[in-house]
Amino acid sequence: MPNFTPPQNPATIDADAALAWYDRHARSLPWRVPPAERARGVAADPYRIWLSEVMLQQTTIAAVGRYYARFLALWPDVAALAAAPIEAVLVEWAGLGYYARARNLHACAVAVVERFGGQFPTASAELLTLPGIGPYTAAAIAAITADERVAVVDGNVDRVVARYLALPVPVRDAKDVVRETVQAAVPARAGDFAQALMDLGATICAPRNASCMLCPLRPGCAGTRVDPLQFPVKPVKAERPTRYGHAFVIRDADGDIYLRTRPGKGLLAQMTETPTSQWVSDKQAPNYPVNAEWRHHGQIVHVFTHFRLELEVWSATATDPEALEDGWWADPAELGAEALPSVFRKVLAAAGLE
Ligand code: SF4
Repeated sequence: MPNFTPPQNPATIDADAALAWYDRHARSLPWRVPPAERARGVAADPYRIWLSEVMLQQTTIAAVGRYYARFLALWPDVAALAAAPIEAVLVEWAGLGYYARARNLHACAVAVVERFGGQFPTASAELLTLPGIGPYTAAAIAAITADERVAVVDGNVDRVVARYLALPVPVRDAKDVVRETVQAAVPARAGDFAQALMDLGATICAPRNASCMLCPLRPGCAGTRVDPLQFPVKPVKAERPTRYGHAFVIRDADGDIYLRTRPGKGLLAQMTETPTSQWVSDKQAPNYPVNAEWRHHGQIVHVFTHFRLELEVWSATATDPEALEDGWWADPAELGAEALPSVFRKVLAAAGLE
């Protein structure tokens, strides 16, 4: 955990306040047992919670709704899903993506039938033994269906806690602090508390907006006393490496420019280029593509997603243009019609063209 000492006495999340807010403002979700019904003893169905959690790993609540309803209509319980052919499950899953999850879903249903007699387990330790169920999903099912006092930390909860603590480092560097902060607050109503934090993150303490005046956690929140939108602190992106190369602008006696098509695979595939060297991690001497009087025009810099490129730009007039066979000669006035990526437009500009 670089440059970060966890607070000795981190602020405690006020679970009572969160629950009181949840009792009034819980979102209505197809798989959710509302807090009033939960208080009357209605338990959430672990099959439904599991199904929704697995689907939500791929996409938003809005997009999941239709898939969830369709799955429940076709396979209303875990035994029905286990008995379905995997091909049928994959067909219904189509559009949700990540087909390994659909296969794990089916394998998990089969395991619940074979190992637990079709009774979906609700203890996190047992859930963790099932295919496709990791620590987050196990905690969510255990808390929501059986009030197991475990911390349930999804992306929304990460954000709420990062703001609540005014966490000075990215969440990924303080996962334990976030989890322990939630764990320390989990009350007897563990399931409702988990869902309260999720709902707070989805509605009040949202990614681009924090409605602190409406938030039940405001009295203890450190983030609201500064600027909540500073948190979570963004991870520093890895520095881009630099690659080096040479680009060669060749003209014929008429002033036309020699261009060619880049390879069919890789960066800028099938785009148009001037001849260029390999782009490598150390500076190398130019290997001119034709014998000519080469003139150096300095250097251009172009930043790609994964690296920064420094190209030395050279130009020359070819004495034997017929020797260049792979490309074509372009009129400088018509370069706008060429599929030249911006890095090669920079090259041409450096050579006094474009
Ligand atoms: S007070 Fe504001 S920043 Fe703090 S948890 Fe609530 S909405 Fe988020």
